Amino acid sequence: MKVSLSQRIYFFTVSCCILFAVIVGSIIWSFQKVELAFSREHYTQKVANHANILKQLVTSDNIYASDYNADNWLKLQSKLMNLLKSAPELTPQQQIIQNSINSQNQSAKQLFSKMNENKLNDASESIKNHLKTRLMIQLEVIRADSVQLSNMVQKDIYDVVQRQALFIFILLAVSILILLYGSSRLSKVFKVSLSEVKNAFENNHSGNFQKIKLSNQSDEFDSIVTAFNLMNHKLSETMVSLAMMKNIVEDRTRVLEQLSNTDPLTKVANRRALFERGDLELSRTDRIHNNLTLILLDCDYFKNVNDVHGHQIGDELLKHICKICNKEIRSIDFLGRYGGEEFIIILPDCDVDGGIEIAKRIQNSLIKDCLIVEGKELNVTLSMGISMLIDKSETFEQLINKADQAMYVAKENGRNRIEVSTSVSPV
Ligand code: GH3
Ligand code: MG
Ligand code: MG
Repeated sequence: MKVSLSQRIYFFTVSCCILFAVIVGSIIWSFQKVELAFSREHYTQKVANHANILKQLVTSDNIYASDYNADNWLKLQSKLMNLLKSAPELTPQQQIIQNSINSQNQSAKQLFSKMNENKLNDASESIKNHLKTRLMIQLEVIRADSVQLSNMVQKDIYDVVQRQALFIFILLAVSILILLYGSSRLSKVFKVSLSEVKNAFENNHSGNFQKIKLSNQSDEFDSIVTAFNLMNHKLSETMVSLAMMKNIVEDRTRVLEQLSNTDPLTKVANRRALFERGDLELSRTDRIHNNLTLILLDCDYFKNVNDVHGHQIGDELLKHICKICNKEIRSIDFLGRYGGEEFIIILPDCDVDGGIEIAKRIQNSLIKDCLIVEGKELNVTLSMGISMLIDKSETFEQLINKADQAMYVAKENGRNRIEVSTSVSPV
């Protein structure tokens, strides 16, 4: 059953009030019981006292004397009668003795009245003495019964006090246990629910967007849980879309990076990427003391191709030259478009001879695999200049200049040639 926390607190408070009322009521009831026991004792002592005085009066006075005034005795007897009538509530056993005292008192009164009517003038002394003795015996019986009743009542006081104290003690113990149990249950519900909510927040912080499931159902915590789960759901959705956005941004960045480094026509590295790679290879060569060689190649009479076959075929030829170069260079080499129909190949860990070998391979490959235009072979040649890093202080631009000069020598010497830069020091 689903119970709200406020209902639990209300129920606990009402239970406390009821228990408090029961305890107070029980204490009052116990006081009344003890008070009754004491009032019985007081009563029995008074009865015994009265009976004793009545007996003493009979003993001390000459009740047969002509001038004897019975008023004192009768007054006291009437007091005893009233006292017996106003007796406190007694136990059944005490009531038996009380009844006996009552009837003895009646008889004593009757006997005293008869003895006092005409002072028994006609009776003999022995009869008078006999009746007086009987009266005294009756009064003694009343006194003895009263003492007996008093003893019973005194013993009862002890029992009542003991019984009521035990009752109050048990009641208090049970009440404390009930309250402890109730408060521990209540605090457990709070503790467990709060710790479950706290754990959920901690999980949430570490990226675990799980729903909270409470062990104890309550309206108050349920509303927190509903709000939290809703927030969690939205957060997890946001995190998913954030991750997706991140992937998209990463993909786009990769594409943009590629575009910014790639020549759009030939798809080889553009000038910017070429210079970046050149600087990188220079510093690497400087670090590991290896050779670094460069080939600068220029298509011979390219303008003619454009003029004769059109710009589009010129573009196709540029792409074809790149395809041939890429086929012939090593995986560690790097091809980039330097500008127009000029390309540069960076050859790390390669000397001049290695550069000449690669340049020749490209030349031969272009002869064997030339571009076909409208079913006819379009034969073109390349002029190539080779330079090698000799002085560690050379820059990439200086290395290019050296290769460029060699390439011009190739042009001057009739094109379709490979020339090596003779410069040792930076140009
Ligand atoms: P040389 O043998 O002396 O190198 O003669 P050449 O005709 O190749 O002379 P030059 O290098 O001066 O000419 C380069 C030409 O390349 C000029 C330019 O119109 C053309 N060109 C440059 N970039 C492109 C391009 O992207 N596409 C096409 N189709 N032509 C280009
Ligand atoms: Mg040129
Ligand atoms: Mg040219």
